[in-house]
Amino acid sequence: MLLPVLRPILDLMSPPVCLACQQELPASAEMLCLHCWYELPETHQHVCLENAFAEIFWGRVPIVAGAALYYFSKSGRVQRLIHQLKYERKSVIGIELGTYYGSQLRQVAPFNTTQVVVPVPLHPKKEKDRGYNQANVFGEGMAKSLGVPVCCEVLKKNEHTLSQTQKSRLGRMQNVQQSFRLGNPEDVKGKHVLLVDDVLTTGATLEACASLLMEVEGVSVSLATIAMAGD
Ligand SMILES: [Zn+2]
Repeated sequence: MLLPVLRPILDLMSPPVCLACQQELPASAEMLCLHCWYELPETHQHVCLENAFAEIFWGRVPIVAGAALYYFSKSGRVQRLIHQLKYERKSVIGIELGTYYGSQLRQVAPFNTTQVVVPVPLHPKKEKDRGYNQANVFGEGMAKSLGVPVCCEVLKKNEHTLSQTQKSRLGRMQNVQQSFRLGNPEDVKGKHVLLVDDVLTTGATLEACASLLMEVEGVSVSLATIAMAGD
């Protein structure tokens, strides 16, 4: 443990910086400067159920509701945050954004009727390399704000799937569907599940996981991610 007297000296040597713009952070701020919090492009999709997120799943899987917290653009602030969450062991980003989004979702129907948070699983080897599953930490933050448990054993990622690049589009979709299985379905039986992931791209992963969850008796599924592509 550091001697208290050393802390200010160490902070002077490497003061905490905003994880989105790298500017020095004031002592009162956590993770992001006020300017970046303000500039992050929120989608507000949770207040309008017919949104661009939910549209992706129309005709594919009957979700209750779906929403992303932010729009994601190449080399923007959100991209930088997600990169650090996935590859630079900044789990605080997942926790903070999850806590923030959970506090918004708990105020609106039907998100406020979700009873359990289930993160999209990561391959165990990837999880070991990264130190954690980024969807788990985001899910933990959300569950805390929503006042519900997070269950990481409901869905499992299968060990062996072929490289995505070697397959046709149809082959890739089948590959995604086959790369997950149910682990402990009892945890979600009869419940409204909030399935969470870091980013929505094609929707294939969330579709595969939501379909599996709906095989469990009495399960309905809503979706939430940190970001989706857009403006
Ligand atoms: Zn900043």
